[in-house]
Amino acid sequence: MNDENYYKKAVSLDEVDYSALLNDNQRSGLRFARRIRMPRAIALGGMFFPIAATLVTHSVAGGWWLLLVGWAFVWPHLAWQLSSKATEPLIQEFHNLKVDAILAGMWIGLMGVNALPSTALLMILCLNLMGAGGVRLFGAGITLMIVSCLVTLQLTARSLTLSSVPLEGWLTLPVIVLYPLLFAWVSYQTATKLAEHKRRLQVMSTRDGMTGLYNRRHWEILLRNEFDLCRRQHRDVTLLLIDIDHFKSINDNWGHDIGDEAILALTRQLKLTLRGSDVIGRFGGDEFAVIMSGTPSESAIAAMSRVHEGLRNLRLSCAPQVQLHISVGVAPLAPHFSHYREWLKSADMALYKAKNAGRNRTEVAA
Ligand code: GH3
Ligand code: MG
Repeated sequence: MNDENYYKKAVSLDEVDYSALLNDNQRSGLRFARRIRMPRAIALGGMFFPIAATLVTHSVAGGWWLLLVGWAFVWPHLAWQLSSKATEPLIQEFHNLKVDAILAGMWIGLMGVNALPSTALLMILCLNLMGAGGVRLFGAGITLMIVSCLVTLQLTARSLTLSSVPLEGWLTLPVIVLYPLLFAWVSYQTATKLAEHKRRLQVMSTRDGMTGLYNRRHWEILLRNEFDLCRRQHRDVTLLLIDIDHFKSINDNWGHDIGDEAILALTRQLKLTLRGSDVIGRFGGDEFAVIMSGTPSESAIAAMSRVHEGLRNLRLSCAPQVQLHISVGVAPLAPHFSHYREWLKSADMALYKAKNAGRNRTEVAA
């Protein structure tokens, strides 16, 4: 077994590619900032109108109007620019959310805590802070908002208005209705992407990248489960180890691409000939393993002779002269195995016997 120690080997710290990790962090930070960009732009653009309506009634100075236009229509894009150019976009986006909180507090203060627009701003802020950074960011953001509101009230000597006129209410309504919907949609998109990402990771962690068969680690988990189950239920189950004969010479004489093609051709042959319920794994290199559940060794040998037969007729498209042969070790589950590794060892010895007996054959464990 060529890579027996592969999975036992601990990955040393020197082997970790830190630059790749850094890039991953950057990419996920950028994705996060991009997710916030559109809802922020829509929310602040939408809030421009009720805040403007409130400021009209307060007849504030021109500088505030400039600030309002900048906040509603420029800040969301500036925030994105800051995050996209930052070395740590995620941290920058958290800073941006805190700036959102300070500015929201300022508008709430300037409006004299006018009930409806202030509630809408508070809702937007709460959703963004909690959704993006959990309780911690939420706590920090709300504190900043309250402080900023109190400071603005103090500096502008604005009195508390609290109640809203109908126009302010009507202009706030679309934001109150639509923003939670928008936020839910963005959350749904994120959850869907995460689920897909998880599914892909699951496939990557259980499958061999080249053949799509189970990789050794996952196949061994399946073998262990099958071992426990069949022992408890006294069911027939047969284990097979398959190794391509003289594979090194195929690589040496024809090149690694043809070697790869041979591995894929054998994979296809196994999938084609064996039952759908047979669990095929790539054990490493040119070695494959199969669990045949509910199958006595005689049927497993019969299945393997069909594979031998198939290989005899098989020609590789780029190297038709290459003849693929395999050696197979067969081990039925025996009552004296106390651990699945003993079973595996037994199949390995049968494979060794097949190799020693001249290859291109199937041998059963003694
Ligand atoms: P034997 O008949 O005793 O099995 O001899 P062999 O030449 O097949 O020897 P062995 O099984 O040890 O050879 C495995 C070789 O497979 C060694 C390695 O270079 C090659 N190999 C492992 N993985 C790959 C792969 O993904 N592609 C290719 N082309 N070669 C591989
Ligand atoms: Mg081999």
